[in-house]
Amino acid sequence: MHTADLFEAPVPAPQAPAERVAQLCALLQRYAHEYYVLDAPSVSDAEYDRLFQELQSLEAAHPALRRSDSPTQRVGGKALDAFAPVRHAVPMLSIRTETDTESSGAEAFDARVRKELGLGEGDGLVEYCAELKFDGLAMSLRYEHGVLVQAATRGDGETGEDVTANIRTIAQIPLRIPVPGSVSAVPVPDVLEVRGEVYMRRDDFEALNERQRQRIAAGEKGEKTFVNPRNAAAGAVRQLDSTIAAQRPLSFFAYGLGEVSSQDAEPTTHLAWLQRLKSWGFPVAAQVDIAQGATELVAYHQRIGEQRDSLPFDIDGVVYKVNRLDLQRQLGFVTREPRWAVAHKYPAQEQMTTVLDIDVQVGRTGKLTPVAKLSPVFVGGVTVTNATLHNEDEARRKDVRVGDTVVVRRAGDVIPEVVSVVLERRTGEAPPFTMPHVCPVCGSAAVREEGEADYRCTGGLFCSAQRKQAILHFAQRRAVEVEGLGEKLVDQLVDGQIVKTLPDLYRLGFVALASMERMAGKSAQNLLDALEKSKQTTLPRFLFGLGIRHVGEATAKELARHFGTLDAIMDASEEALLQVADVGPIVAQSIHRFFAQAHNREVVEQLRVCGVTWPEGPPSVDASPKLLSGKTLVLTGTLPTLSRDAAKELIEAAGGKVAGSVSKKTHYVVAGTEAGSKLDKAQELGIAVLDEAGLLSLLGSTPPASAE
Ligand code: NAD
Repeated sequence: MHTADLFEAPVPAPQAPAERVAQLCALLQRYAHEYYVLDAPSVSDAEYDRLFQELQSLEAAHPALRRSDSPTQRVGGKALDAFAPVRHAVPMLSIRTETDTESSGAEAFDARVRKELGLGEGDGLVEYCAELKFDGLAMSLRYEHGVLVQAATRGDGETGEDVTANIRTIAQIPLRIPVPGSVSAVPVPDVLEVRGEVYMRRDDFEALNERQRQRIAAGEKGEKTFVNPRNAAAGAVRQLDSTIAAQRPLSFFAYGLGEVSSQDAEPTTHLAWLQRLKSWGFPVAAQVDIAQGATELVAYHQRIGEQRDSLPFDIDGVVYKVNRLDLQRQLGFVTREPRWAVAHKYPAQEQMTTVLDIDVQVGRTGKLTPVAKLSPVFVGGVTVTNATLHNEDEARRKDVRVGDTVVVRRAGDVIPEVVSVVLERRTGEAPPFTMPHVCPVCGSAAVREEGEADYRCTGGLFCSAQRKQAILHFAQRRAVEVEGLGEKLVDQLVDGQIVKTLPDLYRLGFVALASMERMAGKSAQNLLDALEKSKQTTLPRFLFGLGIRHVGEATAKELARHFGTLDAIMDASEEALLQVADVGPIVAQSIHRFFAQAHNREVVEQLRVCGVTWPEGPPSVDASPKLLSGKTLVLTGTLPTLSRDAAKELIEAAGGKVAGSVSKKTHYVVAGTEAGSKLDKAQELGIAVLDEAGLLSLLGSTPPASAE
């Protein structure tokens, strides 16, 4: 079944067109109000677009039914009274969406442009500027004599909202142009309105929502998570309190112009304008490109489509614009959109579907995660059947119930999640979801400790779900690395009771393995070889592989360096553990508790008996502190030669710590290309920024790493 079929608004058949038009207008007006004014959409964009297109086709077939207040005749939503109104000198329009297939959409647009311009076959190709269609919200920035004097939302296209105070908090938006150090020698016109998109990067969005989840778990009132980066950005921009807006990590891309006072040597193409904006210090997306005719537009759409998942921000399509400004003027506008531009969308990253069931999954540390089992839906380029509900509070807050129609989001390689319930479609039969108080896999008690968001199974390695995760954790590349030991195989080994504890892995025999389903003799031998190879490891890898809660790779390295031997770590008191750099009271307690359990010591002992070994050394006496001791660094963007892992390793080897976000406590930010808000934050806080060469020269005088 097609998912769209499931969600057809209840249409009593056959319905007169006039009636359906009225119904669609009312529905779309409500959705537009929720989306543009309240920043609280209740349906997916795909659903909105589908209804919008249905209305467009009905109006095309029955022009008499087209009302002046139809959503197809208007832009955006009404401005909120809470902000001062701003009348746009040049209206902020919508962009027509080409819904046809990849090639026919671009061809139809190109054909329309050629016809309007009166171009024949021999007249050569039309040149287009092709850009990303950012999924944020449009902003008009007004500069007078180079100073930012006003920032306004689009509103209904004619009148927007004055959000200057909030926009000033966005580090990427220059308060004065040209920004110091920019390359441009061209003077800035007296009046310059720059139009662009305010958006939130995906990593910033995930981090913001994680912070929000923690606030909710800690009982802070009035906090909520956001459904997607666009919604979070829109909410931040339209915050009445600019100190709150300042805490929301927003970014900006320029893509066009509003009012511009005349000046000498004006650019004659759209691209030249973008380049000029860039030279004055505005962020312009690197993917902007020129396309000659429809064929190159299609190639652009395909190329960006392939990159879409790996971009650090959401896009919902690409935009094609006629590049020559004189031709743009010649083409002009229709009611709500210019004739010289068109948007070409990609498959939606949010879709609606129904919840068939709610399962609870158990992770390595025993964490219980509620997961919605979905009627299969194609979203963000893949078919999704499961979506996370994160934890009890989230599931309750969203109030997802079996049988509900929900909006599911999958963007980039982020785990799909349920963002909201379409309440008007609830049948009202299913009860609210409650977290089980026993582990659904092993039946042990599940408890939620105070101040924590998660329930955890107390069964430890008795729980087969935790056992599987523990084995996968131990065998991963960054731990002892058993090549080829993946999820399916671990399921088979644990479910078949062949492997009960980690040491059982090293007792596997060829005959037992080769007799397993889907396991040929060669694969069995490969696995045995990989297991043999994994026996020669290092102390940090082994420690990390044990999966002690709160002991990540960096802590494992510190522990190994500090104590030198595993026995010393196992016997260390909490006080002794607290002496290790990077170890605080929670981590110390977790390590101490782990080794206080006889069965954990037994696992370690058996692994040694099976031949797992690592070099040990004397404890490190930190007589000469390492060069980066006590220093915290943050990595952002792509470095020219070093991978993230490699850079991290170098920093840690020099005694430094790598953190995920920039704060006042950060000592250096190491930035590569495509560096985002972390770099802005560093600049805002006046933190030293290094490139790869800078990092390497900082490390150049580092004494060699000891005790590893
Ligand atoms: P649009 O699709 O008409 O496109 C115009 C907007 O695109 C501009 O205002 C600008 O913000 C943006 N844009 C991004 N990159 C651009 C670029 N490179 N050049 C120019 N503009 C660029 O936008 P719209 O009218 O704001 O919104 C329509 C969309 O909003 C629909 O696709 C719909 O999915 C969504 N919507 C959803 C709901 C809902 O309830 N879920 C309701 C209303 C609208």
